[in-house]
Amino acid sequence: MSAPLPAGSTIGIIGGGQLGRMLAMAAARLGYRTIVLEPQPDCPAAQVANSQIVADYDDRFALDRLARASHVVTYEFENVPVSAVQALADTIPVYPPARALEISQDRVTEKTFLNGSGIPTAGFRPIDSDEDLRQALVAFNGTGVLKTRRLGYDGKGQRLLRNATPSEADGSYVAMGNVPLVLEAFVSFDREISIIAARGQDGALSAYDPAENVHCGGILAKSTVPAAISANTANAAEDAAFAILQSLNYVGVIGVEFFVLPDGSLLVNEIAPRVHNSGHWTEAACVISQFEQHVRAVAGLPLGTTSRHSDCVMQNLIGDEVSGVDTLSREPELMLHLYGKAEARPGRKMGHFTRLTPRGG
Ligand code: AMP
Repeated sequence: MSAPLPAGSTIGIIGGGQLGRMLAMAAARLGYRTIVLEPQPDCPAAQVANSQIVADYDDRFALDRLARASHVVTYEFENVPVSAVQALADTIPVYPPARALEISQDRVTEKTFLNGSGIPTAGFRPIDSDEDLRQALVAFNGTGVLKTRRLGYDGKGQRLLRNATPSEADGSYVAMGNVPLVLEAFVSFDREISIIAARGQDGALSAYDPAENVHCGGILAKSTVPAAISANTANAAEDAAFAILQSLNYVGVIGVEFFVLPDGSLLVNEIAPRVHNSGHWTEAACVISQFEQHVRAVAGLPLGTTSRHSDCVMQNLIGDEVSGVDTLSREPELMLHLYGKAEARPGRKMGHFTRLTPRGG
């Protein structure tokens, strides 16, 4: 473990979306400077960071510049090329580790890693042809979720198959983009939860209370805390997150999404090696937000408390929903957060709000 980064040091952030923006804001409050690598000029993160390198994430020249300008580098989304992070890590500390990124980029690698660590997931079969899908459909009784193995997010690149006959596999591989796929068993879950956990450079572990999540069209719509789950289920979520963090020798915040089965047991859906949309409520309902916790971890500071002073519901403002901000801003117990995006396209996350209520029992 190295000494904590002194105030005034610079944290490099790969990716310039809203997560990078909120990381840059938390970093500034702890006295750090930030530089953002992002191809889109005037991106949400760059509007609040100290500077931006306008270039692709795998631009070697830009990565060199980022390494020279930073004391530590982190990233805000998982589709950063692993090779870029590995190259950077040869010259400068990069957190979370490249291995976490690599695992999260491929649904088959991810599930294989999780199952190998004793953490259950939905059953799955890698699909590299229509014939593979035909066989998998027979094995899964015709029902499952067909997903692209890589570069999927917010439910993109997914198709639900219900009671499909094997012949329905014909042409699917090309229809899904001619890329490696995975068929996951369909999970009849009671609810979905996620947990935001962190590991510091000293190996300390911490986790926030699990949030209960509702998705619309594959995109997170709402997170409610506390989740309607038993203490046993909450503990199991924390245990799984800590096992993942330890086995990866991880530094930083991680988001782990779960399906809760009717008996209260858990299957991991996916992991995100970064701050997570379902943890935005922490900025309003906790003393230390997930963003500050991540900055603390990558800067080598001690982790902060994850205690929660209020119950809350966080809702995303997607596309046109952002036009409701005038009404929302009149509610005194509501924390509003807008991302500085000019154009409200359908499906685009424009902001979020967290409504606080007094903490229940
Ligand atoms: P993902 O992009 O994998 O997180 O999937 C987006 C959403 O689709 C999840 O949050 C679930 O609501 C739903 N979903 C994904 N995989 C499955 C599955 N195997 N069984 C049932 N629902 C799923």
